[in-house]
Amino acid sequence: MARPFLADEAFAAKARNGKSEEINICIACNQACLDHIFTGEFASCLVNPRAGREDEFTVKVTRSAKKVAVAGGGVGGLAAAEMAARIGHNVVLFEASDRLGGQFNLAQHVPGKAEFAETIAYFENALIRQGAEIRLQSPATSAELDSFDHVVVATGVTARQPVIDGIDHPKVAFYAEILRRQRVAGETVAIIGGGGIGFDVAAFLLDGDDHHHQDPEAFAAYWGIDMAVNSDGGLQAAGLPAVMPRRQITMLQRKQDRFGRTLGLTTGWVHKAILQRNNVQQIAAVDYRHIDDDGIHITVAGAPRLIAADTIIVCAGQEPEDQLSAALKSAGKAYSVVGGARLAGELDAKRAIEEGSRAAMAI
Ligand SMILES: Cc1cc2nc3c(=O)[nH]c(=O)nc-3n(C[C@H](O)[C@H](O)[C@H](O)COP(=O)(O)OP(=O)(O)OC[C@H]3O[C@@H](n4cnc5c(N)ncnc54)[C@H](O)[C@@H]3O)c2cc1C
Ligand code: SF4
Repeated sequence: MARPFLADEAFAAKARNGKSEEINICIACNQACLDHIFTGEFASCLVNPRAGREDEFTVKVTRSAKKVAVAGGGVGGLAAAEMAARIGHNVVLFEASDRLGGQFNLAQHVPGKAEFAETIAYFENALIRQGAEIRLQSPATSAELDSFDHVVVATGVTARQPVIDGIDHPKVAFYAEILRRQRVAGETVAIIGGGGIGFDVAAFLLDGDDHHHQDPEAFAAYWGIDMAVNSDGGLQAAGLPAVMPRRQITMLQRKQDRFGRTLGLTTGWVHKAILQRNNVQQIAAVDYRHIDDDGIHITVAGAPRLIAADTIIVCAGQEPEDQLSAALKSAGKAYSVVGGARLAGELDAKRAIEEGSRAAMAI
């Protein structure tokens, strides 16, 4: 229960009082607790930036409530709206799509990240309880925002489209299309991009219907765990059982870096192990040449290569989506920009949630 109490110190009281929907659930990411400990930082929590810093995040109910608009219902915007409402401001949250959660709606399809849905549900419930107005399918425009005293811009990111000859080939898909199951990848796949989302997409494509990460016995079998603890370290003496990869995947990146360098300190090894066991090939320092019916043509250290692929998936980073700030600035509006809209940092919900909370406290 150590991590759940970081996510919500009132966990036990809420459970005892039958208010489980009010509990902020630990999503098992390790990003602000264990990863911090291993780098000498204070332990906190991704879903609850107040943890360990309660003196910085004191909530004082305001005597002069303002009209606050939050543009964007990803986790950055949700945290901002929730904190602003808790302080006592009159909050309207605009979300362009038909659901709250932003990129967390994609992340929750990745093996091991199903709990991300709980964070969306927690914030949505909190906003409803606090009487904030949620407007879905409502892209905020600068004209609409004119009547508010303060605007928090939390409009997130757009996927970066690399400039490669043939990028509009029918074989090419974007990570969001794959994770939303709008497109189904073939048996041979090339992934453009070796960052966290590239790893997540590979894990998603390799995950069968066996759900070994959900069923304890299947999980133990997959990871070679000896549940009877008869052997040293509780691992099966025979080692990890062989895995039959569901797809043949090659990951490509322009950088010379080793793959997975940006993954979490205490969780990255799991993602790397899954890909290694499934024989995912990783090629760095790639120059992309062109895409055609055969696959993606690259050069590595000057030598041309063809990576044959049925599907080529773009996971080549993101750009901030912030079309509102300039108009708000020229209209002289008070505003703040948080999360991906301020800086597109790929797997960076920790910063988005903290920035959203702090922006609301500063209104
Ligand atoms: C597959 C995947 C896995 C991930 N895994 C992790 C992880 O393990 N750990 C981690 O920390 N992060 C992870 N992330 C990244 C994380 O989801 C983002 O860092 C985080 O969602 C950023 O939140 P945000 O609120 O800034 O933006 P977003 O989540 O992008 O939300 C922005 C929202 O604004 C809306 N919007 C846009 N324009 C407007 C407008 N004009 N008006 C109203 N609404 C608008 C969009 O529809 C969207 O809902 C992952 C992302 C993906 C895609
Ligand atoms: S940082 Fe992540 S794993 Fe750690 S307590 Fe918070 S939600 Fe749980």
